[in-house]
Amino acid sequence: MQKRDVLVTGKAKTVYTTDDADRLILHFRDDTSAFDGEKKEKLTRKGLVNNYFNAFIMQKLQAAGIPTHFEKVLGDDEALIKRLTMIPVECVVRNLAAGSLVRRLGVEEGLELNPPTFEFFLKNDALHDPMINDSHIRTFNWASEAEVLQMKDLTFQVNVVLKRLFADAGMLLVDYKLEFGRFKGQVLLGDEFSPDGCRLWDAATRKKLDKDRFRQGLGGVVEAYEEVAQRLGVSIPL
Ligand code: UDP
Repeated sequence: MQKRDVLVTGKAKTVYTTDDADRLILHFRDDTSAFDGEKKEKLTRKGLVNNYFNAFIMQKLQAAGIPTHFEKVLGDDEALIKRLTMIPVECVVRNLAAGSLVRRLGVEEGLELNPPTFEFFLKNDALHDPMINDSHIRTFNWASEAEVLQMKDLTFQVNVVLKRLFADAGMLLVDYKLEFGRFKGQVLLGDEFSPDGCRLWDAATRKKLDKDRFRQGLGGVVEAYEEVAQRLGVSIPL
């Protein structure tokens, strides 16, 4: 597989084209950002840790019957993926209240959400990723009705698999964000799953083990990501 040109440079990842029109290379950088890119830092090993972490989770999801774009790890901070046409929405499921839900609805952080909530956000930095609903998605034709249903269904299926996976390792999956794309007529899970895009708390102490450590300046960001990986049994090169 030959790496060709930069296709997209995101805040934490770079996507490259390859000599295969249906395949891309995803490069996990050490860059970390929060608050729409206002807070930025380079964190040593973050790219490597997230690459291996993402590979582990994507393979678990794939094994549970959730179709993903992930193919294989290529090097320390790179993975081979299918080239999707991304759907410009973010799908968020929450099991416990945190982050924007707490700010928006004035509920207490850590409140158990039963049943879990589902939210769509528009992927648009300039507009600060506003919350949208199914009706907006249809009116502006960001996705078809069938795709909306599939994204919701797959996002909830991920919850069943990952809530259990993290619980077995002594962690609470508080919330997470997924992105989907189209590949040869099918909706596949795209982007990544790492502590950059979810909230994970230690089940006993509720210690934060995710990007909130960076957002809130708590320190020990990569150390926490490595702890999560180690608890799950993800092996990461030294
Ligand atoms: N999230 C993300 N990218 C975004 C916005 C949110 O990965 O652009 C993740 C975030 O890490 C959390 C979940 O989605 O796990 C819900 O985020 P929330 O709406 O609470 O927003 P935040 O507090 O991060 O502003």
